[in-house]
Amino acid sequence: DYKVTGVQTCALPISGRSDPARPTRTDTRLAAEPRRMNVTMSESAGGFVSRRAQRRLVDRLRDRGICSERVLAAIASVPRHQFLEEALQSRAYEDTALPIGYQQTISQPYIVALMTECLLNGRPRLRTALEIGTGCGYQAAVLSQVVDRVFTVERIAPLARRAQTTLAELGIHNVAVRHADGREGWSAKRPFDGIMLTAAPDSVPQALFSQLRDGGVLVAPEGDTGAQRLSSWILKDGKTQKQFIADVSFVPMLSGVKS
Ligand code: SAH
Repeated sequence: DYKVTGVQTCALPISGRSDPARPTRTDTRLAAEPRRMNVTMSESAGGFVSRRAQRRLVDRLRDRGICSERVLAAIASVPRHQFLEEALQSRAYEDTALPIGYQQTISQPYIVALMTECLLNGRPRLRTALEIGTGCGYQAAVLSQVVDRVFTVERIAPLARRAQTTLAELGIHNVAVRHADGREGWSAKRPFDGIMLTAAPDSVPQALFSQLRDGGVLVAPEGDTGAQRLSSWILKDGKTQKQFIADVSFVPMLSGVKS
């Protein structure tokens, strides 16, 4: 899952990319107070290492070209180790995807940050966002810091349940998890300011574009395993403008649900 193979530059707001040498920083003002989370550290020494490792991860993401201070603050505020089984928690702040069971993975932090930045597209904050492919819930937790209400859909029931539990334990109450086939989106909650796919379809289902608000952004990988392209689409007056972001490697988007 999620190995970036393309060369990355600073992810700029899509609408403002005419001069890539000069990043447009529209969001340097940080959210006033990061939301407090119920962080559990298994032991105090380990906790200390975790926090240091987490700060180093944020520095690394900045070095790799993540510009949005809001996104970096969101990564800094979500305890990634709490989305992992205990045996893997010591590796939580490596910039790598890790297994979560059911042949699925937790996304690589760099990709989570990059996709979040592209979804915001220079907007300070979104009212609503839809994620397809909850997995362990880490990306949803990061989104919860920059979006008022997050909706996320997972096709594997035990993963959806576990994500819900983890988010509740962290005191994150603005994320709704649904067990369903995400290719249909979540039409009762439309329209969304942003839609993000964290599993790759051959091409983005039309149903998802129809749930995007005018001016909204959809970020998704498309294509076969091994040759996927991450892109973003801006919807303007019924037309979408597509922009390539990076070559990536995600798990495939599958149809139907698994109990
Ligand atoms: N967003 C996760 C990583 C997701 S891994 C994170 O934060 O780490 C991709 C997830 O997409 C898997 O859990 C997989 O079961 C799910 N998935 C695949 N096809 C899907 C579909 N049609 N609808 C909903 N979820 C789907």
